[in-house]
Amino acid sequence: MSIRLKSRKEINLMRAAGRIVHEVHNLCREMAVPGTTTRAIDDAAQKLIDARGARGLFKNYPTYKPGEGFPSTLCISVNECVVHGIGDDRPIQDGDVVGVDCGVQIDGWCGDAATTILVGDVAQDVRDMCAATEHCLQIAIDQIRPGKRWSQIARLMQKYAEDRGYGVVRDFVGHGIGSTMHEEPKVPNFVSRELLKNDIHLRPGVVLAIEPMLTLGSREVKTLDDGWTVVTLDGKASAHYEHTVAVTDRGAEVLTDGR
Ligand code: MG
Ligand code: MG
Repeated sequence: MSIRLKSRKEINLMRAAGRIVHEVHNLCREMAVPGTTTRAIDDAAQKLIDARGARGLFKNYPTYKPGEGFPSTLCISVNECVVHGIGDDRPIQDGDVVGVDCGVQIDGWCGDAATTILVGDVAQDVRDMCAATEHCLQIAIDQIRPGKRWSQIARLMQKYAEDRGYGVVRDFVGHGIGSTMHEEPKVPNFVSRELLKNDIHLRPGVVLAIEPMLTLGSREVKTLDDGWTVVTLDGKASAHYEHTVAVTDRGAEVLTDGR
């Protein structure tokens, strides 16, 4: 496994991409009110990305079927949808949790981040799960420093989630990121034999997209017939938070927080 290390200059370019992602998140947060469709949010996100001279990384993202790439700009994943939801004409309803994942490239460098937007009167157990998922991401950010192994951090994230009864999704993980969206290594939110065998040694210049996905019920998921939309098998709600994070000699530098 080879991780491509990024220079300070490259990390700064990734931050410029991250700023646009952050702006898109803010736009989504403003727009995600009852009655608005996820398609309208997706269209507005595309316009903003175009206006910044950037390129959305998800649209037309290839699948194993030739000519059938991902159809929308954002992944918009509502309620039981975990990831890779497609914007459509269903209006958002009070009580929905709307996961928004956005990746852009500008000047050859990428940023990728996700957040879950709570719309109106969200059930308390779902609210708590969203907070726990965001906290798992914060654990990673707080723990990152050179010399650590990723498995040490993944263990803490997994423990925090499972101690509270949440499912930690196994089928999807974070990833290295740089001039392309998906680079080595795979960045799981749990400890596996595979990770322990092939651990990630954190050092300055490693840049990871860290993206915990938790479920209120079982951690099992399935993909719908559209070939993309991933939902929980038991139909219970799910949450997803992600930041692009650079390891520096001082710790973690979050590149998608809008700074
Ligand atoms: Mg993402
Ligand atoms: Mg990602």
